[in-house]
Amino acid sequence: MCPVCQARFRGTLECSRCGVDLKTLMGLVANAWRLRQAARQAITDGDPFRARALAWEAQQICYTPVGGRLEALSSWLADNWDSSTQ
Ligand SMILES: [Zn+2]
Repeated sequence: MCPVCQARFRGTLECSRCGVDLKTLMGLVANAWRLRQAARQAITDGDPFRARALAWEAQQICYTPVGGRLEALSSWLADNWDSSTQ
C-alpha cells in the first residue's frame, strides 16, 4: 500500500492515486529501517549515544511510532548513562 494515501500498489514506480515516487519513498523507508537496526545494535553494544543519534536520524527520514519509542528509549539510556560503571 502507498504509505502516503493508502492506495494499493499497481506494480508501478509511482502511486496511481497521489503520484508519489514509490521508489524514492521505499528507499527512504529502507534507510530508516537500517538506521533503527543499527540503533538497536548500538544499545546492545552499550553505546546509547550512538543509538540516540541513529534513532533520531531515522525519525527525520521516516517517522514511525515504533521509531519514536526507540528514540525515547535510547534517549533515556543516554541521559542515565553512567560511564563509570563500564
Ligand atoms: Zn499514494
